[in-house]
Amino acid sequence: MIFILPTSYDLFRWNKTTGVDNWLWKDVEPTISEVTRIVPANIYSNFDYLSEQFIQSAIVSGHRYISDINDLEQERLGVFHYPVNISAGTRWASYRGYLQPAIRYHKRISISPDSFVKRILFKKNKAIGCEYTKNGVTYRAYADREVILSAGVYSSPTILMRSGIGDAQILTQIGIKSIVNNVNVGQHVIDHPEINIQHHCPIKFSLNRYLTSTQKLKEGMKWLLFRRGIAAVNQAFTGAFLSYQDSQHPQYQLHFWPAYFSDRTALPGLGGFKIGINLCYPASVGEIKLNPLNTCSLPEINVGYLNNKDDVKAFTKAFQHTRKILSHSPLANISMGEETPGLKVNSAYQIVEYIYSNVDSGYHSTSSCRMSSTKDMGVVDKNGAVFGVDNLRVIDASILPTVVGCNPAATIMIVAHRLSQFICTQNN
Ligand SMILES: Cc1cc2nc3c(=O)[nH]c(=O)nc-3n(C[C@H](O)[C@H](O)[C@H](O)COP(=O)(O)OP(=O)(O)OC[C@H]3O[C@@H](n4cnc5c(N)ncnc54)[C@H](O)[C@@H]3O)c2cc1C
Repeated sequence: MIFILPTSYDLFRWNKTTGVDNWLWKDVEPTISEVTRIVPANIYSNFDYLSEQFIQSAIVSGHRYISDINDLEQERLGVFHYPVNISAGTRWASYRGYLQPAIRYHKRISISPDSFVKRILFKKNKAIGCEYTKNGVTYRAYADREVILSAGVYSSPTILMRSGIGDAQILTQIGIKSIVNNVNVGQHVIDHPEINIQHHCPIKFSLNRYLTSTQKLKEGMKWLLFRRGIAAVNQAFTGAFLSYQDSQHPQYQLHFWPAYFSDRTALPGLGGFKIGINLCYPASVGEIKLNPLNTCSLPEINVGYLNNKDDVKAFTKAFQHTRKILSHSPLANISMGEETPGLKVNSAYQIVEYIYSNVDSGYHSTSSCRMSSTKDMGVVDKNGAVFGVDNLRVIDASILPTVVGCNPAATIMIVAHRLSQFICTQNN
């Protein structure tokens, strides 16, 4: 997984958005140092031919090469190799890094897999446990001290709403007894919207060459026996943080994929490369609501892509700038032509039309239970404690005051790491 640290600008924006204090750079830097000592963040340079050509084309078109994007002393504008949290050919996920060792050393931890948390249980305004189902059977688990909800940006707000924390008027309408009236639950959700440009190129350069049965078997064996080869890495090796106007902070991010995709699937038999363009700090926000017909089914999600016109303008400029990079050699010499959207999409009007029809998720949603200084603006306080009740915290992507300008997993790990230390200190 791409592992990129947040910047002081990201944390400054948190404070500016919801007034949350205690999360400025000076407060968070010690945790960042600790997390970077724990999490392996390796760079795979010169691993893939096409990715190196992308770096060269970006440099030829006037962008700087950043040797280590997680070196926070360096300015974050330019092209770079991605740091990825992979160790011995396997993703160093937070499960592997944090939960697995905890299970090994603390016998009191028990996990109930394949379980679905329906709601938090309360005694008056105090969270005392949760109700969950497993194989169709309903169970209750009770907490001695507190309940911590970490179900992610889409599920954490829905669990809160099912438990009676949310917009009281809406909850009452769908038959849920209100415990805390807070209209912010499920609001302010923000994602990096993404559009793509894809080129054809000879298959010998592209990762699609690994998709034949023989190659898959060979690479599979390589991974099983030695934890090496293409199955042992993240297939996005390079990216860029760029700006289309004079700014010290990136406005858009490029993910270079050295493979040909149909929709989101890499196909055998065809060669190509794809660039994902996503906006680092979009202005559009959306919301998550319970399905009123069945509150335990998937929620209604409207991430609100492009509902702010500034994002369309930003995307148009980013699109035109990205095309410029791709028009430079050496990538331009390898390309067999732009396939998506294709050169027929050229005028500003056509580009805007393409953006509206093709905008997709960057998979980086945050902020549906955002942290803030007061209940008027958010759902949890600076320590992740849910406003209006006792003994309940949310700790996951949903509490980020607003999205960070990069892939968010490292930031979420940093937030969780810092809050877990706070909870341990508070509980001795
Ligand atoms: C395809 C994809 C690729 C990505 N790649 C990157 C990347 O390279 N780098 C990066 O920085 N970020 C990446 N992201 C984003 C990153 O994965 C997320 O931002 C991050 O995992 C969010 O962490 P979280 O703890 O908030 O939620 P999650 O990781 O989603 O964890 C929430 C957990 O809660 C469980 N859960 C949900 N509801 C319930 C319920 N009702 N009962 C019980 N359990 C429940 C879920 O099953 C899940 O295990 C990617 C996302 C996707 C989808």
